[in-house]
Amino acid sequence: MAEDKKLDTKLVTGGRRAEWRGKLVSPPVDRGSTILFDDVAELRAAGPGLGKYYYGLHGWPTQWALAEALTELEPGAAGTALAETGLAAVTAALTAVLETGDELLMVDSVYGPTRRFCDVVLKRFGISTRYYDPLTSSEGLKAMLGGKTRAIFLESPGSQTFEVQDVPGICAMARRRGIVTLLDNTWATPLLFPAIANGVDISIQALSKYVGGHSDLLLGSITANSEWYERVQRATWDFGHAAAADDAWLSARGLRTLAVRLKRHEESTLKVACWLAEQQKVARLLHPAFESCPGHEFWKRDFKGSAGLFSFALDGGDPAARDRFIDKLELFGIGYSWGGFESLATPAEPTRTASNPDWGGPLVRLQIGLEDPDDLIADLSTALEVYP
Ligand SMILES: *Cc1c(COP(=O)(O)O)cnc(C)c1O
Repeated sequence: MAEDKKLDTKLVTGGRRAEWRGKLVSPPVDRGSTILFDDVAELRAAGPGLGKYYYGLHGWPTQWALAEALTELEPGAAGTALAETGLAAVTAALTAVLETGDELLMVDSVYGPTRRFCDVVLKRFGISTRYYDPLTSSEGLKAMLGGKTRAIFLESPGSQTFEVQDVPGICAMARRRGIVTLLDNTWATPLLFPAIANGVDISIQALSKYVGGHSDLLLGSITANSEWYERVQRATWDFGHAAAADDAWLSARGLRTLAVRLKRHEESTLKVACWLAEQQKVARLLHPAFESCPGHEFWKRDFKGSAGLFSFALDGGDPAARDRFIDKLELFGIGYSWGGFESLATPAEPTRTASNPDWGGPLVRLQIGLEDPDDLIADLSTALEVYP
């Protein structure tokens, strides 16, 4: 597939090789474990890889089509490995690059379970993690590097407090020093932020969110440049990570409509966020497209748009009043995850160890779905009236 095609076109054509789909529009969902060979010689000659039949762990067209389509969305990427959840993609990528004795620099706004993996599992294997404030500049991070620093992990924006990092600056600085960079790109997807082209070595997505888009699957992907792809792919197999056929197929299906869904998420979210910004009971908006969001200037410089997840601080009140506000919402589901068609509200209670920001009040995180934004605003308005 030519690199000069536009993203919307790649979303439609990616991974749909004729030899994988036959006469159908999309490669089918096939289930299996054993791959049968014609004879022992063929079995002995077989090995894993995209397009090579070997064993269930390494997939078949149902998974390859998704992996190839994801790679095509990232200019400069060499390939994509899949894992059964977004978290598995994060942990597989980390274990692919780190060794005992190494130090990892981890952004303080990171997704909670990633933090836990570093603090508990990596620590047990002799890998130390030092957290850095998400607002640290590339110069500031350069000053933090130690002799054992092996990798820098970024999440931009952070998925609870939405600080945007200087990803190109940090990655360029790291590359000059031989330090590998990993980015959790779940919020932006390659459509809003092509990570590899911006200098990231390894870009991770929880496909459970926007790519799946319907809150009905768990899957993760790791897209990497030529320096890291083989090692990352090998690590996923060594740990036994695989993408279940149904989830891979649903993700590939979701990918076809990702651009139109994201556009609608963006428009509705901006409408809701603009309304919230004008409410007296809202102390602060944490949405990358607004100046009140730390790192907004990097969003403006580097991103092609915004997604449907953001937070805001309620003015006054306490966490219990915030919880009552969320309970009062009728159109917003209360639950984890995001990126689906339905709106969600959750309390945001970020854990911080390297920074101590004051957001101005208890935080609410909203995922804006595909409902009519006017109905969502009316719902928020009713709940705000009685706050705190
Ligand atoms: C949800 C999420 C993950 C993990 O994805 P799962 O598929 O739920 O394991 C990783 N990173 C971010 C930013 C997420 O929001």
